Amino acid sequence: MTTSVLTAFTFCLSIGTSVAQTDTRIYDIIDAVSEDRLRADVKKLADFGTRHTLSDTVSNTRGIGAARRWIKSEFEKTSQACNNCLDVFYQSDLVKKGTNPRIVKDVVVVNVVAVQRGSKYPNRYILMSGDIDSRISDPTNYTDDAPGANDNASGMAGTLEAARVLSKYTFENSIIYVGLSGEEQGLFGGKGLAAYAKEQGWEIIGIMNNDMIGNIEGVDGVIDNRTFRIFSEPVPPTETEGQRNARRFYGGEVDGISRQLARFIYKTTKTYMPEMNPMMIYRLDRFGRGGHHRPFNDAGFAGIRIMEAHENYTQQHQDIRTENGINYGDTFEHVNFPYNAKLTAVNAINLASIAWAPPTPSNVGIGGIVEANARLQWDAVEGAVAYKVYWRDTTSPTWDHSRLILNGTSATLKGIVIDNFFFGVAAVGKDGHESPVAFPSIIIRD
Ligand SMILES: [Zn+2]
Repeated sequence: MTTSVLTAFTFCLSIGTSVAQTDTRIYDIIDAVSEDRLRADVKKLADFGTRHTLSDTVSNTRGIGAARRWIKSEFEKTSQACNNCLDVFYQSDLVKKGTNPRIVKDVVVVNVVAVQRGSKYPNRYILMSGDIDSRISDPTNYTDDAPGANDNASGMAGTLEAARVLSKYTFENSIIYVGLSGEEQGLFGGKGLAAYAKEQGWEIIGIMNNDMIGNIEGVDGVIDNRTFRIFSEPVPPTETEGQRNARRFYGGEVDGISRQLARFIYKTTKTYMPEMNPMMIYRLDRFGRGGHHRPFNDAGFAGIRIMEAHENYTQQHQDIRTENGINYGDTFEHVNFPYNAKLTAVNAINLASIAWAPPTPSNVGIGGIVEANARLQWDAVEGAVAYKVYWRDTTSPTWDHSRLILNGTSATLKGIVIDNFFFGVAAVGKDGHESPVAFPSIIIRD
C-alpha cells in the first residue's frame, strides 16, 4: 500500500532541491475530456451534410461556411467562459481554380484559429489541429452528402474539446487550437497557416495534427481501442547539405525535431495514460498519403500526425451506399467516442505538458571522441530549474536512460562511451514539465 501511495507522488530528491516527476493536474485534464461533448460535436459537424472545401458558404445549415461559423462560435463560447482567454479569428487564403485538378473553381480556404496566450513565452506556440473539410469518392464532388464523421469531424471535435478543457488553466507557452480547411483538396489550409506563422514570426514548438481519431474497427478485422499512431518524419526537409553530410559521421538520421516531438508524446502518454499503446511510426505519414502536419514540416516546423491504428477504408472518402452487403460511407455511427475521448486526452495532456515546460535547450554540444566518457554542454534556458541528459541504444526508438542535472549547463557521463549511444538534452521547469529533447548540433573536439 505504502509503495502505491509513494508512486503517485514520486519526487526526485537531491540535496536541497527537488524536481516533480508527475503533475496531478494532468490527471484532472484527462478526466475533464467529455465523451458526450465529442459525440454532440461530431454529430453537429456530420449534420452539415457536406463540409467539402468547395461547398456552399451561404447556408446556415449546410456546407463548409455554416460549419466554420459554428466552429468559430464554439471557440468563442469557450473563450467567454474563461474571461476571453482565447483570441479567435479566421485565417484565409484564396486558392485559384486549376491550382491542381481538385480545385475546380476559385475558393477561399478558411481556417478557424483560437490562440490561448502564454504568460511567459507568448510568442512560442504549440498547436493542435483537426480538419474542417470532408469529401466522398469523387474529390471534386462538393454537393452530395459527405458527413466526414471520422475523417475528420473526430479530429475537429477533439480540438474544440481540448480548448474547452485547457482554457481552465494558464500556461507559460501559447497554445493554438485550429480547424484547418482544404485538406482533401491538397493540404491548402495547413500551407496557409504555416506561411502565416512565418509572416507573423511565430516560434512554433510543433503541431499535433489529428486526422481520424475515432475509428476502432479496422478493415483488417482488428478491433483495438487502445492503440494509436504517431507519425513523424525522420529529419526536416529544410536541412542543409552540410547538416546532411554531418549525419554520416555524427548520427541523427532518426533524430529530427518532429521525431523528438513524437518521442515526447509517446513518453507523456506512457506516463499518464498507461492503458494506451502509442505506436511511433517512423515515417512522415501513411505510405504515399498526406496530412496537414506536412506543410508545417515543409516550412521547417516540427509536426506529427496522431491517428487511429486500424483504418477502415469502406468508411473513408466513400459515397454513402450499400454494396454487396457493405455499408460504405464515413457516417456518425462508426465513430467510437470513448476512443475519440482517449485520443483527445492524449492531445490535451501533451499540449499542457509542453505549454508548461521551458524551451528546448539550444546549441547542444557533444564530445567524447576516443574517451571513456561522453560530455555534453548546452546554453542555459531561462525558466529551467534543471536539465535532463538522455541517452539510448542506437537501435532504440525511445530515450531510455537519463540523468538529472541540477547545477550548470554541462554534464560528463562517466563510462558511457559516445560511440555506443545517441544523446540529447531537455530543459526541466519548476513543476517538472520537460521540453522536448534537443539532439546535439555541435561537436566538441578538445
Ligand atoms: Zn481524408
